[in-house]
Amino acid sequence: MQHTSEHFLQNSRIALSDAQLKPVLGAVSTFLPALRQAAIDQTPEFESLRDYAVAMKDHVLDHLETYLTDFERAVQTRGGAVHHAAGPDDLNRIVLALCAQAGARKVIKGKSMVGEETNLNDALQGAGIEVLETDLGEYIIQQAGEPPSHIIGPALHKSKAQVAELFRQKHDLGERDLGDVPQMVREARHMLRQGFLEADAGITGANALVVENGAIMLVTNEGNGDLCSTLPRLHIVIAGIEKLVPTMEDASALHRVLCRSATGQITSAYTTFYNGPRRGEEPDGPTAFHVILLDNGRRAMRAGKYRSMLRCIRCGACLNHCPVYRHVGGHAYGWVYPGPMGSVLTPLMTGLERAPELPNACTSCGRCEETCPMRIPLPEHLRQLRDDAATAGITPREWRWGIGAAMAAFRSPWLYRLSSGIARSALAFLGKHPDLTRRVPLLRGWVEGRSLPAPEAETFMSRWQRRQQGKSGEHRL
Ligand code: SF4
Repeated sequence: MQHTSEHFLQNSRIALSDAQLKPVLGAVSTFLPALRQAAIDQTPEFESLRDYAVAMKDHVLDHLETYLTDFERAVQTRGGAVHHAAGPDDLNRIVLALCAQAGARKVIKGKSMVGEETNLNDALQGAGIEVLETDLGEYIIQQAGEPPSHIIGPALHKSKAQVAELFRQKHDLGERDLGDVPQMVREARHMLRQGFLEADAGITGANALVVENGAIMLVTNEGNGDLCSTLPRLHIVIAGIEKLVPTMEDASALHRVLCRSATGQITSAYTTFYNGPRRGEEPDGPTAFHVILLDNGRRAMRAGKYRSMLRCIRCGACLNHCPVYRHVGGHAYGWVYPGPMGSVLTPLMTGLERAPELPNACTSCGRCEETCPMRIPLPEHLRQLRDDAATAGITPREWRWGIGAAMAAFRSPWLYRLSSGIARSALAFLGKHPDLTRRVPLLRGWVEGRSLPAPEAETFMSRWQRRQQGKSGEHRL
């Protein structure tokens, strides 16, 4: 995926002026939180499930290397193989080598954020391998040539009319109609079916990797992941190293937290555990099974102050509750991961200098932390990243000057009184002259969509002093 996260402000302006996007995002940010809340209301033990999941993930992170070794052994015992990829290029290279070894020319894919991280589709197509995304949302954006805009609903930014128009352009429809959503789903299924039957290899992600038996937990609502895993002769699983859970019981707890937080479901339509290739007596399944574990900055994260980000289960709840995401959508964030979790993960995975604006894409309302099932302190991480950016000299010079001036004023009462007095007079003047305000460089962004209110005639301090003087006058009488 092309990296544009250094231009978050520019991308946001484009998104804010997109009249089609606004109602779609408004609907997403309303119905997904409502579904989540309804599911949680039916689960009195939800808070204790969260505590369990957080403690379990922290335990895995404490013993990550041991669990990685045990998982690898468990997969090998069941006839599979585990590969380790330090970065995106390593993962893509391993996938290409496995495809070459199996003579695979046609690949079907289930939804995988790791595949987006490594830009796997481009690597496969560059090697002359045909790739077909089989998750409906991923299929739509593959046809549109766009990146995903939401981690659980890649095409949530598209309206029904846009999808119908896209299919009309890309498909040879013949007699088939696209009048309603079921017809559009049938149309996508019609196109995907042949792809499933012809594929040489299937690539899927994983929602959890179970150490005790080497199983891969795959959670979907369309069943496409299961077809990718069972029909082709080669199954490749790609996942981040943080996906490990010690036992099936832990996977089950994580599954309960994930489904409720992501889509407000008590359980997903399909949840499957795979371990290893087809065994001798089995009638179907792949003949080769490979798991590729990606680091891509995760070990560095684990060693530092952003360790809790590795608890993330990619449920998307923080996106659905974020006022910034609600207005600008996922593409504004410019990389694989949008919303609050993306504003933390993107700088950590691609470098803060490549995403300097993202840690500031936050109103500090705290809703992301409240809703995150894994209790990740997202606002705190965003503050830490701003601090890191200032320390590294990445923060733009004007911002540093502004913050330096504010700090000097906060430290000195007389300077604070002087500067707030000047600011109050200036705001009183500008509040009465909105046209002029729109021409002031530092204020332009704030007043583009709203008017600047003129301050009260008297400050709180002067009122307070007047009241105190009145009281002491009363005592003297
Ligand atoms: S940060 Fe939390 S809420 Fe956001 S995707 Fe990850 S687990 Fe879900």
